[in-house]
Amino acid sequence: DPAPEQPCIRCGACAEACPMELLPQQLFWYSKAGEYDKAEHLNLFDCIECGICSYVCPSSIPLVQYYRAAKGEIRVQQAEQLKADRARERFEARQARLEREQQEKEQRRKDRAKAAAEAQARKQAEAEEAEKSDGAAQPANDRAAKAAQVQEALARKKAKSGQSETAPGKTPAAPESESPPDIDALEKQLNQAVAKLNTMQSMLDDAKAENADNVEKLERAVTKNHDRVLRAEEALAEAQRTVNATEAQTTDS
Ligand code: SF4
Repeated sequence: DPAPEQPCIRCGACAEACPMELLPQQLFWYSKAGEYDKAEHLNLFDCIECGICSYVCPSSIPLVQYYRAAKGEIRVQQAEQLKADRARERFEARQARLEREQQEKEQRRKDRAKAAAEAQARKQAEAEEAEKSDGAAQPANDRAAKAAQVQEALARKKAKSGQSETAPGKTPAAPESESPPDIDALEKQLNQAVAKLNTMQSMLDDAKAENADNVEKLERAVTKNHDRVLRAEEALAEAQRTVNATEAQTTDS
């Protein structure tokens, strides 16, 4: 049986005998106290565990057993540290991936919003352009129709006043200063109104097919142009009646 372990008397015999020129005495202290970082600093892992230090130790301290236990504990701690490091790396990689995916998702959302805003602005500009062209054509047509109506009213008034001033039984003379309605101009206005109506109807059909946002505006524009066509038709018909009446009066006289 080996001699029982006695307290270290710090004789230094172990250090003299160590073939690796280590400090077995200090290694023993640090290993026993659990101060493994200091033992490593004194090159604990250079120990070849030959057992010479234990052999020469007069206090029969099993130095090598302390060294082995310290090495084993250090390896366990290193393995745990490595495991923790890998877990941390995986966590950080996952966080980075989630953050990147979130940024990509946000970027895709911004791109979709930008494209939608551009499409909306494009449709808005098209609708405004259609409204503008529609509005520009309307005053001219309205003025022409009103002018024709005024001409017709004046003609009717003059015709009535001429009849009242004429003696009974005598055919009233045609007013000399009255100018006949401009049939060509009214026909031209009617053709323009019809063309405009066709254009707006075509735009409305396209908008409906594309399910666009300006369908309602285009429907109002089509209704407005349809009314304009009706007014132009009425103005032209009235003018033609006036011309026919004037020609009949001229023939009678
Ligand atoms: S067991 Fe280690 S410390 Fe002891 S003498 Fe051998 S090499 Fe040196």
